[in-house]
Amino acid sequence: MTRLIWFRSDLRVDDNTALLNALRDAHRGECKVGAIFYATPGQWREHDMAPVKAEFIWRTLAQLRTSLAKLQVPLWVRVVPRYADIARDLAQFATDNHCDAVFANREYPVNETARDAAVDVALGERGILFKTFHDATLLPPGSVLTQMGQPFKVFTPFKRALIQRVAGETPQFEQPKSAGFWCDAPPLPDDLYESFWPYEKSGVPEKLWPAGEKAAFAQLQLFANEKLHDYRERRDFPLLDGTSRLSPYLALGVISIRRCLDAALALNGGQWAGGEQGADTWISELLWREFYIHVLSAFPQVCKYRPMRPETDAVAWRYDKEDFQRWCEGRTGFPLVDAAMRQLVQTGWMHNRLRMVTAMFLCKYLLIDWRWGEQFFMRHLIDGDLAANNGGWQWSASTGTDAAPYFRLLSPLRQAERFDDAGLFTKKMLPELANVEAGLFIKPGAPQLLAAGYPEPVVDLKMGRERALSAFTQMAAVPVPQKTVSRKAGP
Ligand code: FAD
Repeated sequence: MTRLIWFRSDLRVDDNTALLNALRDAHRGECKVGAIFYATPGQWREHDMAPVKAEFIWRTLAQLRTSLAKLQVPLWVRVVPRYADIARDLAQFATDNHCDAVFANREYPVNETARDAAVDVALGERGILFKTFHDATLLPPGSVLTQMGQPFKVFTPFKRALIQRVAGETPQFEQPKSAGFWCDAPPLPDDLYESFWPYEKSGVPEKLWPAGEKAAFAQLQLFANEKLHDYRERRDFPLLDGTSRLSPYLALGVISIRRCLDAALALNGGQWAGGEQGADTWISELLWREFYIHVLSAFPQVCKYRPMRPETDAVAWRYDKEDFQRWCEGRTGFPLVDAAMRQLVQTGWMHNRLRMVTAMFLCKYLLIDWRWGEQFFMRHLIDGDLAANNGGWQWSASTGTDAAPYFRLLSPLRQAERFDDAGLFTKKMLPELANVEAGLFIKPGAPQLLAAGYPEPVVDLKMGRERALSAFTQMAAVPVPQKTVSRKAGP
C-alpha cells in the first residue's frame, strides 16, 4: 500500500505534520510514501494570485522534489484548471497507484475547505482515507477562545490567552526519516510550466527571493543572529532591512511557524513574553499571523469580500478609477506612498510600515473601497495571503476585527518624517527625485518636485481627511446594504 501526501501551502520536508505522519507509518512497514502537488491556474487567477508568487511556487517545487527524493518520496506535479477538478483527478490517481490514504495539512479559507470536502467524498467512494492535520498555525484555529467560548476579535487578549496556553513550552521537532524506495520521482514534462502558469511574467528578479527550505533557514538564521535583537528599534524604517523578510516562505509554508517561534524563544530564554524586547516584539508579529488565520477560520465572511463590521458597508466608498490608477502606479504626488507602491510592483514585497501607509492613503485619504486595494496587493505580493492581507486591509480601513479607529489616520507626510527622514528609501525607489532635497518630500506640489517631472498631489490631505471622517460619521445613519460585493469588484 502507498500513502500520498498532498502538498498545498506547506512546501517543505522539515517539521511538516502530514509528511511526518506518513513517514512514521512507512517506518512501521505499513506503506510506501509518495507526494503530489496540484497547480490550479484558473483558480489561482480567480484568487488574484500574483505572477511572482506563482513563479516562486514553481521554483520552490523544484527544491522540494530534490529534498523529497532524498527521503525516497517521489513528487508528482499535476495541473488542473480549478479546485473543483481536483477531487476526480486525485481519486483516480490514488486508485491507479494503490493508495490507501491521502494525507494533507489543513487550509482554512472557504474555497479550500469546500475543495477538501469534495476530495473527502471522492476518495471515500473509492475506499481511500483522506486525513488532514493542523500544521499552519501554532494552535489549531478554533482552539483559542474567550471565557464565553467565543473566538477573539481583538488581538491583545487573543495573544494573552494563547501565551497562557503555551507558556513554559517550546516547539519540539522530529527529523523526517527516509520512507523506503517506492519509485523514482517521475520527470516533469518540459512544457509543464506553460500550463502551470499560462499568464504574464512578473519581471521580478529571481535572486531577490531564493527558493527552497535552505534559503528560508539561512534567512531565519541571519535574522536571528544579526537582526532580531534590534528588531523593535529598526523594524519601522523601510531603508534598514530590519525585518526578517520571511513572509514569502511563511505564506507558502517553506518554513514552519514553529521554527520561527523557536528561534525567537531561543533568544528569549524560552519566554513567550516579558523577555528581550526584540524577540518579544517579533513573537508578537508572528502571533498577528496566527490571529488573522484564527479570525478567518471563525468568520468566513472575510473570505467573501465582506467587512468584519457589516455596518461599514454603508460607508460611501469612492470608485474613482483615475485616482486608483495613480495609486497603483505610484503617481500620487506623495513621495513615500509612491516609493512604497514602486517597491511592491518592482520587488513583489512591501515593508509593513508602508503597507499601512499606502493602505490608509487609499481607503481614507482617497476614500476608495479597501477591496480594490486588497485585490491590487494580492495581485502583486509574493507573500499574498488571504488571512493576513484581508486582516491588514480591514485594519487600515477600520472595517475589521481589531481595526485602527476610523479617526486615526496615518499621515503620509508625518510617516515620511518619522521613518524616512533623510528620504533615502524614497530616493532609492524614485530615482527621478535623486537630486531633489529630501525636505521637500513632505511638501507635495513643491515647484522643485514638479520641475523634476514629479506629479501634482492627487488629493489635498486636509480635504481627504475631512471627507473620510464625514463618510464614517454618516455611515451610522445609512441602512446596511444586503448586496454581496463580488470578488471581481476591482477595475
Ligand atoms: P516580520 O516583521 O519579520 O514579521 C515576521 C512574520 O510575522 C511575517 O513574515 C508574517 O508572517 C508575520 N506578520 C508580521 N506582521 C504581520 C501582520 N500585521 N499580520 C499578519 N502577519 C504578520 N503579510 C503577509 O504575510 N501576507 C500578506 O498578504 C500581507 N498583506 C498585508 C496587507 C496590509 C494592508 C498590511 C498592513 C499588512 C499585510 N501583511 C501581510 C502583514 C505584514 O506587512 C507582512 O507580514 C510583513 O511586512 C512581512 O515582512 P517580514 O517577513 O519581514 O515581517
